[in-house]
Amino acid sequence: MTAVATGRQTWTSRHLLDVDQLSRADLEATLDLAAKLRDQRTSGELGEARKRLTGHTVGLAFYEASTRTRVSFELAARELGATAVDLSVVGSSVIKGESLIDTMLTLERTGAQTVVLRHAMAGAPYLVARSTGLRVLNAGDGAHAHPTQALLDAVTLREALGGSLDGKTIAIIGDVAHSRVARSDIHALTRLGARIVVGGPPAWVAGFGAWPAVRVAPGLREALEGADAVMTLRVQLERAAGGAIGSLREYTRSWGLDEERLSWAKPGAPILHPGPTNEGIELTAELAASERSLIGRQVTNGVGARMAVLSLLAA
Ligand code: ASP
Repeated sequence: MTAVATGRQTWTSRHLLDVDQLSRADLEATLDLAAKLRDQRTSGELGEARKRLTGHTVGLAFYEASTRTRVSFELAARELGATAVDLSVVGSSVIKGESLIDTMLTLERTGAQTVVLRHAMAGAPYLVARSTGLRVLNAGDGAHAHPTQALLDAVTLREALGGSLDGKTIAIIGDVAHSRVARSDIHALTRLGARIVVGGPPAWVAGFGAWPAVRVAPGLREALEGADAVMTLRVQLERAAGGAIGSLREYTRSWGLDEERLSWAKPGAPILHPGPTNEGIELTAELAASERSLIGRQVTNGVGARMAVLSLLAA
């Protein structure tokens, strides 16, 4: 195990499998670095950081669809001087039946040091971390975890809510049960001092009240009242989420967000969504495009968060 200096603390792992492995100090140092790298990139002042990963190869292995995560990891790797190789799983030997581990070993033998892995099977990144010499960055495993999404959400929320999440209440609305984003967000945001209220159809929020600092609200109004920020989640239709509710139309009627309903939250509370949205289902297009929406900032912060993680793990 290598210990990676973050300035204030150390990361003691070679992998990023979920955010629950990070202490509060690690999380805060990572968020600080993400914001710094984002700003330096925006102003064209990355300087020495542009060479931080010279000679390093990062494989991108996305076994599930992705736009934001894949593109931002690729850009992040390149900004830091690494070579990024997209395994284009659909066009690779995977369709000839090559197993996940064989594909990962092949990547390792070509000289790659790191893999960014997205897979439909919860636990797949853990398996690869155990079975190969690659450093593994979990880019989403089934309904389990999506650590870099949690980091970018935390950067976005921290900045929008005055620099700290201590004592803040974040409402997470929708398909919590099937959402890897929700699980990782809950770990990260509660560790940073926030309280979480989850709201959604009963089958999608059942059991979440057992988490420390998480409360399940019986309805949308109760979920939003007192919320400093509101995170809406995509209905995970590919994970058969629709089977647990009557219809998407009914879902929107009870749990969909619009400007009027958002007024149940604290004045000015911003709204987030990890994307992609099911248009008009989780929130209205007007709200998504409004000044209250942080959706665009989440995407921009995703590049900074992935640059931070890549540079910490590859150090
Ligand atoms: N893009 C996020 C994920 O891969 C959120 C979503 O797809 O709903 O989990």
